[in-house]
Amino acid sequence: ADGRDAETLQSNAAAALHQAKSRGRSMLQFFSMEMMGRAKERLTLEAALRQSVKRDELRLFYQPQVDLSSGQIVGAEALVRWQHPKLGLIAPNEFIPLAEESGYVVTLGDWVLRTACRQIKQWAGLGLPLRQVAVNVSAIQLSRGSLVESVKEALLETGIAPGRLELEITESSVMLDTEKSLETLARLKALGVQLSIDDFGTGYSSLSYLQQLEVNKLKIDMAFVRDMTTNRNNASIVKAVIALGHSLGLEIIAEGVETPEQAHQLRSLRCDMMQGYLISKPIPGDDLTQFMTNFKPIYVPLEDQRVANRR
Ligand code: C2E
Ligand code: MG
Ligand code: MG
Repeated sequence: ADGRDAETLQSNAAAALHQAKSRGRSMLQFFSMEMMGRAKERLTLEAALRQSVKRDELRLFYQPQVDLSSGQIVGAEALVRWQHPKLGLIAPNEFIPLAEESGYVVTLGDWVLRTACRQIKQWAGLGLPLRQVAVNVSAIQLSRGSLVESVKEALLETGIAPGRLELEITESSVMLDTEKSLETLARLKALGVQLSIDDFGTGYSSLSYLQQLEVNKLKIDMAFVRDMTTNRNNASIVKAVIALGHSLGLEIIAEGVETPEQAHQLRSLRCDMMQGYLISKPIPGDDLTQFMTNFKPIYVPLEDQRVANRR
């Protein structure tokens, strides 16, 4: 009853399938008219997204990362936004999944890499003391794209030191196509770029991969950071991740740090770095240049000396 010709039936079935997949798979889903509206919207948005690089509608924002013991800005994370001509500035959570579905995330990701490397070059030229700038990499780029070539090109074009570039991958993205991903990551590592695991603790961590991958850094997911000052379980997880990472020789950065209390507690637990609204929201590159120029190191005292001494 959901169409009078094969084409309509197929496209409506596809809409129902999409809904089932986005709700976690393994379920039955009937088509509805309301679904068609949403499917149309999605198609329109996807078609527009495919033009975004060509039309110069993507923007790269940067969020500073602070070393907890020196209080200095030592890094930044590049976060993409889409300046849609009608809808305004769109957050990545609303279009990255769409870009991943259509494969466009490879083109988009190349743009992000190139743009970030140019920004790194500019900041290096200004003598700003950033150790590295991190770029988020999608699972699709890892398993399907020619990520190694793209990274090589971006490094070559800008002439920046490979160690200035950090790639953020998620645990689940490695699991998507483990063999191919591990191979790609090994080749990236050989280029000299830094690797970090994003949203650590939320996916399926295989600790053996962690070692195999030779990552440099773990990013503690903000879900654990958010309640760590009020929820003992979360505080324990944060503590355990820091201990685990340090014993593997990795640097630890906490994301989503919003309050001084969180910063103090992280410092007491010997977390290395922090990133979050407490320092700054993600802002355009030029704004971050300004921000870094005026930035005074933040002194984060050890909250509880006893906790510190026990380590
Ligand atoms: P992520 O890599 O885990 O980035 C952290 C997100 O947390 C960012 O959201 C950031 O703006 C937000 N955030 C930072 N500090 C705080 C804080 O103190 N409090 C709160 N509540 N949030 C904070 P954003 O920019 O909306 O990005 C969302 C996600 O989109 C990113 O998560 C990343 O997975 C993805 N993404 C962003 N840019 C790219 C990209 O260039 N390529 C790919 N493949 N994915 C990207
Ligand atoms: Mg990230
Ligand atoms: Mg994250």
